[in-house]
Amino acid sequence: MDHTSDDAARRLRLRLADVEARFAAQRSTVDGIVEAARDSNADDEHDPEGATLAWERQQAAALADGADAERRELLAALDRVAAGTYGVCEACGRPIPAARLEARPAATRCVEHAR
Ligand SMILES: [Zn+2]
Repeated sequence: MDHTSDDAARRLRLRLADVEARFAAQRSTVDGIVEAARDSNADDEHDPEGATLAWERQQAAALADGADAERRELLAALDRVAAGTYGVCEACGRPIPAARLEARPAATRCVEHAR
């Protein structure tokens, strides 16, 4: 493994740790809200507190889903590092610029082919 892919793997693992922490935090927020809703008398849909809790739970669940999707992208990128195909645009086969990979380490396409 050359120096560049070492850097890429290190960056991907750092992001992965960050994303996993975010995922765990959002999951525990969801669990906490579910528990709070169970403890309070939030059976009534018209209870304003129940509605707020439901909305907060949805937000936290959406953030957890987003973190989970990002986690899968990062894991796929680490597979590409191992396979030696990391940083190559899957559309045109040209190298993805380093600046783009720094901003989006899981990018699979160059800017031109990102859409
Ligand atoms: Zn391309």
